[in-house]
Amino acid sequence: MSAPQLLAGKNILVTGVTMDSSIGFAIARCAQEYGARVLISNFGQALRITRRIAKRLPEEPPVLELDVTDPEHLAGLPDVLREHLGDDARLDGVVHSIAYGNPETLLGGKFLDGPWEDVARAIEVSAYSLKALTVACRPLLGDGSSVVGLTFDASVAWPVYDWMGVAKAGLESTSRYLARDLGADGIRVNLVSAGPLRTLAAKAIPGFEDLETMWKTRAPLGWDNADTQPTARAVCALLSDLFPATTGEIVHVDGGFHAMGA
Ligand code: NAP
Repeated sequence: MSAPQLLAGKNILVTGVTMDSSIGFAIARCAQEYGARVLISNFGQALRITRRIAKRLPEEPPVLELDVTDPEHLAGLPDVLREHLGDDARLDGVVHSIAYGNPETLLGGKFLDGPWEDVARAIEVSAYSLKALTVACRPLLGDGSSVVGLTFDASVAWPVYDWMGVAKAGLESTSRYLARDLGADGIRVNLVSAGPLRTLAAKAIPGFEDLETMWKTRAPLGWDNADTQPTARAVCALLSDLFPATTGEIVHVDGGFHAMGA
């Protein structure tokens, strides 16, 4: 059965694609299957890998270089997007699938010792960048455009997640303030809160298996930590016109874990 063309005619930028295990990769694939024209981005040395991995998508998309902490990259983004999409093009969707926290100093039980420089970097890359990326794309965004990011439920404290949990709390708050300030232009901003998925970033977290074990025993629908598709589909639904009156929202794609007390 062919996929519903929920995103037909839409231009969508998906950031944070490194490997084919990246959630961003699954989102890019899903968006293409749903009919979107997709551009993907990554930064630094991993760009090489991204360019190779891009060939594994149903259609090879343009790969943009975008470090979300680099003011020049951000300032140049509208022109780079127009080069690929055309001078009058608009951007219908932006996916923020980016996070970074030094695993050696900030994660895996290091909360009380995490140094500010590393915390600051984690918050800049993982939370502030949602604002930076959205504002950079704003000249191409318009009524009906949708911004979607990825969080790991920051309403509670978790084992091992430590300062990344704080950064995610910042991300969740940032998305609400963006929703407030961009709502008048018809731009929606939402997050998907995914359960633990075995990506590169996740495997770098010391003790990540503790979270996986919790999900296995508690998620009422069960949870496959290798399956990024349910998360990708939820992101695509939020990118589509199916949620025209939803903004500042966090949709949980976690097998129902968040709703259980124990
Ligand atoms: P991933 O494949 O490692 O993706 C994270 C991406 O962020 C990578 O492509 C990474 O690039 C990129 N990145 C880091 N610093 C950047 C910068 N300064 N500028 C631009 N890109 C930068 O891991 P993932 O699990 O798919 O993560 C995607 C999102 O999902 C993150 O927000 C993550 O927190 C969230 N999430 C993940 C899980 C999970 O269990 N995996 C659960 C809930 C939410 P490099 O690889 O080159 O460093």
